[in-house]
Amino acid sequence: MSEGVRWKRVLLKLSGEALMGDQQFGIDPKVVERVAEEISEAVNLGAQFGIVVGGGNIFRGVALSAKGGNRVTGDHMGMLATIMNSLTLADALNKKGIQARVLSAVPVPSICESFTQRGAERYMEDGDVILFAGGTGNPFFTTDSGAALRAAEMQCNVFLKGTSVDGVYDADPKLKPDAKRFDTLTPGEVLEKNLKVMDAAAIALARDNSIPVVVFSIKTSGALVNVLRGQGLFTVIE
Ligand code: UDP
Repeated sequence: MSEGVRWKRVLLKLSGEALMGDQQFGIDPKVVERVAEEISEAVNLGAQFGIVVGGGNIFRGVALSAKGGNRVTGDHMGMLATIMNSLTLADALNKKGIQARVLSAVPVPSICESFTQRGAERYMEDGDVILFAGGTGNPFFTTDSGAALRAAEMQCNVFLKGTSVDGVYDADPKLKPDAKRFDTLTPGEVLEKNLKVMDAAAIALARDNSIPVVVFSIKTSGALVNVLRGQGLFTVIE
């Protein structure tokens, strides 16, 4: 079934910004198409895929509270944004012949199915790609934490974090060209050094469930497939 992939079941986390391209906001259909192509090539290698897309390209709850708005309302809006991103990515995957389903932690039954672990398990066993939308379903969390939660619930073998750079660096490589990339880190090092990989709750959840986190660039063509084969540039946190 799987052509030399290192992990049978994968949780892929993409930030909402991965769908934004060069725009300042929202969804660029051409970028969604490219990301879907990357994912479909990876799915065709035979791994089972669950995907969490953030919502930061559309809305973040802290943006509302920073302007004096209600944080909980803002977070509800952010969770809705993740559903929008998941719907568009699912459509793009379906167009490529991949059976993709959106399961939301926030029930919106006229738009998509609600998440249940058992339902998701059945679909993943059938080889369907699941887009876990709506984060954890609770305010004051992030989609990184939602993704780590789903990775644990679905017994994923790895948490792949697709970012705009090819791993974790000791400084921002976009600002400091001599920044050093780590090949490996422990969760403890990430937390101690306060490295900006993902929030501490997500790192801790992955650590406590022995799920390695692999940070790679979703912007680099072919990188996702390479990572699944253990090739190319990335940082492993375990
Ligand atoms: N959010 C939330 N609970 C969750 C996940 C997300 O309230 O479990 C809200 C929160 O406002 C967050 C927004 O949804 O800012 C978008 O998610 P996130 O910031 O994680 O998106 P990303 O940065 O990955 O695009």
